[in-house]
Amino acid sequence: MPTKYIFITGGVVSSLGKGLTSASIGQLLESRGIKIAMLKLDPYLNVDPGTMNPFQHGEVYVTDDGAETDLDLGHYYRFTHSPLSKASNATSGQIYDTVIKRERRGDYLGKTVQVVPHVTDEIKTRILACSMQEKGIDVVLVEIGGTVGDIESLPFLEAIRQFRYERPRDCINIHLTYVPYLKAAGEVKTKPTQHSVQDLREIGIVPDLILCRCENSLSDEIKAKISLFCNVPREAVIDEKDIAGSIYEVPMDLHIQGLDAMVCTMLDLGEKKADLADWSAMLHTLKHPKDRIVIGIVGKYLDHQDAYKSVFEALCHGGIALETTVEIRKFESERIVKHGDVEQQIGGCHAYLVPGGFGERGWEGMILAAKYCRTRGIPYFGICLGMQVMLVEFARSVLDLKEADSTEINPNTKDPVVSMLSEQRGLKALGGTMRLGSYPCTIAPNTQAFDAYGKRLILERHRHRYEFNNAYKTAYESKGMVFSGALENDTLCEISEIPDHPWMLGVQFHPEFKSRPLSPHPLFRAFIQAALFAKTQSASILK
Ligand code: GLN
Repeated sequence: MPTKYIFITGGVVSSLGKGLTSASIGQLLESRGIKIAMLKLDPYLNVDPGTMNPFQHGEVYVTDDGAETDLDLGHYYRFTHSPLSKASNATSGQIYDTVIKRERRGDYLGKTVQVVPHVTDEIKTRILACSMQEKGIDVVLVEIGGTVGDIESLPFLEAIRQFRYERPRDCINIHLTYVPYLKAAGEVKTKPTQHSVQDLREIGIVPDLILCRCENSLSDEIKAKISLFCNVPREAVIDEKDIAGSIYEVPMDLHIQGLDAMVCTMLDLGEKKADLADWSAMLHTLKHPKDRIVIGIVGKYLDHQDAYKSVFEALCHGGIALETTVEIRKFESERIVKHGDVEQQIGGCHAYLVPGGFGERGWEGMILAAKYCRTRGIPYFGICLGMQVMLVEFARSVLDLKEADSTEINPNTKDPVVSMLSEQRGLKALGGTMRLGSYPCTIAPNTQAFDAYGKRLILERHRHRYEFNNAYKTAYESKGMVFSGALENDTLCEISEIPDHPWMLGVQFHPEFKSRPLSPHPLFRAFIQAALFAKTQSASILK
């Protein structure tokens, strides 16, 4: 069977949840035994989101092979088993970069280099490359970033038009649109959808299926109207209404309306039934928790709801593993001040997590949070920057190195307990130059890390320039810090923990990228477990 392709576009407004919808469709196909691969095409000119401010773009998701990618790949990971690599996310920046480099080499043999066909050819090459990442991929789902009608997404739309023209039987287009309810008129409005489908048709793309994001289910009358005006069969107009509960309910909602069955018919993918038993069981656990805990996140990009996306999801997964609802309280570390009572500023949670981040802003507030947790015996989980915070706080308070710091924050510190990785020194360019992607880590037995993982060798993903300075290792160890995970030959400390504390652990990597609702990450599970224990211990203090 030739590989089939599903192109997913978005209309009317951004932030419709196209990534979530694409991931849900991917998951439904997998549940029918179909092997999928997912690709995100982003129209912006950055080569990757790695250099973008988290306030602009949200989280940067990192793959095993060290690609810094769009956060939608995190949804793909959590919902599906699609291979995820450099071949899974392409931006206009990358496409143009490749075309221009080729032009400079003289590969175009004197031709005028143009958007059509040279840029569109490169886009088509990327789609094919995604389908060839692994053997046996049946379906590639291609999500086009941005909104139909944007100037910058035009080359992508033209490329998928050509792609389908060349493979008429192997492609379908799904258009995700917005159908608003106008309160004043007391009516649901289909006009924006009609116009965005018109925009698509002008480019030569006719959608096969229309998914309507809406507040409440659409009436048959409205669906019939969209069907008529947009030239799609009535049963191919599906609503995707706002879900009050969890994002993990989206696949079920689409399945009930027959979306996956329809896609399979359209692409001739066979009639195998969807097996959603595990997913349903997980949803049941999520909806019927036995306990509830409150986790405080002390970070610096909390005003952007997607900047720590994978961390929030991984906490939820840890909760699923222990049948516990995890309520998250956010604390902007910049607002935590030394002269105030830290308990008053951040108290009231069962455990705290300090996630990744860059730069000085908010650093001292995170140190105060780490100290609060260490001295009060409250569970603390430090991720990347959060581990560096934990190490600096320990040096200042326990090793009595009052000026200890990370050289990222104070390049002239007397005690650089966290310093730049040697491979990073001398690097000038910022894009794609951090220590990125998956590295092995050996775990020491009889540690909290080993208790969580239950094995000696793990693989985790990294994204950082700074690391614990081994010159201070003996001093830390003499005061009770244990470095429970290291890169081979002990060259880099990847995990630190304090055995005398109920659960205080830092990791230099990003475990949140490898957590799924059906396979929660062991460290997040262990952290939630520690928080549950803390709850029983502190029942009188915490409500
Ligand atoms: N800024 C720190 C570093 O580069 C931490 C990075 C992170 O948290 N991802 O090492």
